[in-house]
Amino acid sequence: MKGISASPGIAIGSAYVLTKNKVTSTGTVLKSEDDIAREMDKFNKAVQASVDDIERVKSNASQNLNEDEMDVLDAHIELLTDPQLHGDVLEKIRAERKNAVDAVIQVIGQFIRVFKGMNDAYLIDRAADIKDIGNRILENLSNSREKTPPKFKFNTIVIADEISPSDAIALDMTTVIAFATRIGGKTSHTAILAKSKNLPAVLGCGAALDEIRNDDVIIVDGAKGLVIANPDEKCFEEYAAKFRQYHQENSFMPSLNSAPAQTTDGIKIKLMANISSADDMDDALMYGAEGVGLFRTELLFMNRNSFPTEDEQFQFYYSAALKARGKPVVIRTIDIGGDKPLDYFHLPKEENPFLGYRAIRISLDRKDIFVTQLKAILRASALRNVKAMFPMISGIQELRLAKQILEAAKQQLRESKVDFDERIPVGMMIETPSAAITADLFAQEVDFFSIGTNDLCQYTLAVDRGNEKIKDLYDPYNPAVLRLIRYMIEQARKYHIHVGMCGEFASDPLATVLLLGMGLEEFSMSAVSLPAIKKIINENDYEKAKMICEQVMSMDNSKSIIDYLTACSSK
Ligand code: PEP
Ligand code: MG
Repeated sequence: MKGISASPGIAIGSAYVLTKNKVTSTGTVLKSEDDIAREMDKFNKAVQASVDDIERVKSNASQNLNEDEMDVLDAHIELLTDPQLHGDVLEKIRAERKNAVDAVIQVIGQFIRVFKGMNDAYLIDRAADIKDIGNRILENLSNSREKTPPKFKFNTIVIADEISPSDAIALDMTTVIAFATRIGGKTSHTAILAKSKNLPAVLGCGAALDEIRNDDVIIVDGAKGLVIANPDEKCFEEYAAKFRQYHQENSFMPSLNSAPAQTTDGIKIKLMANISSADDMDDALMYGAEGVGLFRTELLFMNRNSFPTEDEQFQFYYSAALKARGKPVVIRTIDIGGDKPLDYFHLPKEENPFLGYRAIRISLDRKDIFVTQLKAILRASALRNVKAMFPMISGIQELRLAKQILEAAKQQLRESKVDFDERIPVGMMIETPSAAITADLFAQEVDFFSIGTNDLCQYTLAVDRGNEKIKDLYDPYNPAVLRLIRYMIEQARKYHIHVGMCGEFASDPLATVLLLGMGLEEFSMSAVSLPAIKKIINENDYEKAKMICEQVMSMDNSKSIIDYLTACSSK
């Protein structure tokens, strides 16, 4: 069964089919005012019971929730108490004489349609949160909610319509090794949570999963987006071998994790982690990261009602920098807009959000927001291991203006006698083709580059990075993308500035030797991917990697490049 690859890895286990009692419309028409009052009261009580359910999950210490999970639950409480939702349901009961169940089904249905109609993958996926709280109210209205979550056996693969955000949090995941769902997309909460728990997940498989029964043997191949039920012996053996290999390469290997990354001919490479909060620092250190190549700061700005204050931001950045114990931490200024909207910021609706008001463009337009963030980053730099980085720069004027505003933020701190690193290194993401093509100009004005292949690839190839329909065209091995990457690295080296890569391409094992051969000095990625990449670096020779790179750069299409790199890697 084929679905969307939402979180990589291979799992072999037994199925637990998670079923939900579906509450359906009744078509009831309320007769009296008493009926109306009773249904309104039932609705209010069901909402309160739903809020209580979530509070219970939150306060259950054994759940051991991380910050992201707490945020999801808080967002659900906020939705449950949303005045518009309440007003609409009560109005349907009062004016249209519907009972509470039917009123909730209709209002939630309308909300879901509105979200699904939005021109934005992230918002479309938020419809899952609305559906989730709707189901919760309905289950409480019909008393059909299971108060105790199921007990999973060892090595369980959960099969479900979707794992709602609150399910994913409330279920006891200690023995769950993978998910496969009928619905859900790459940016859904299920995908985000699966990745944060490092579990393989294949989503959006559709009705094909209906055939699966409890205790069936299941293989989930997260990277390929495949779910195999009751495999024959040959298939099972093949996957058992892949599973062993995957775990050998990706498991925590203390000796490998503490050793430096170095080619067989002695070239040292920096391996860094991408993080979104101080919590991620634990994994980063455990997997042997030498620092943080990309601290995405958006998480602090999302799932809340207003912009975080300077002090809140300072705490957020400082705690990560402190946990890094002197290792460098590159903090990227906000990259909101595009696929990362903020509810309270009321970004204008745009035809082409990825080409619109996002990232540094917002920061330069809203200097108040930008200065607040820069001051918080600067204050964290008092630890002397912080670097600042700007996203989505497309022209040199933007960079100059951003640096001027940084200077102004420094001046404000100097005047208030607040300590910060006067020599804080300043870098930029290179993720637009315009910046890549003029990398020589930029290299003379920043301390470092970080190549953002996720956006660079979509802008170079004119392929939306989140659009499933054209996913095969999203191809970082396209010679156009590779030429840009090589050019940026060459220019960085020519002007003696540090160059790293923090886009997903840095964690693609097939690309490692090629990137080494191009002269990339730093690879930054999710911590769990570090051991596998380190192993490849430690087994390869820099001079040979340069030759492989030359060969690749002479090729005119990605298929030949991928075939050639695959052949080289199996030698
Ligand atoms: C990138 O574009 O490669 C990148 C690392 O930034 P983000 O994925 O946050 O847009
Ligand atoms: Mg980007």
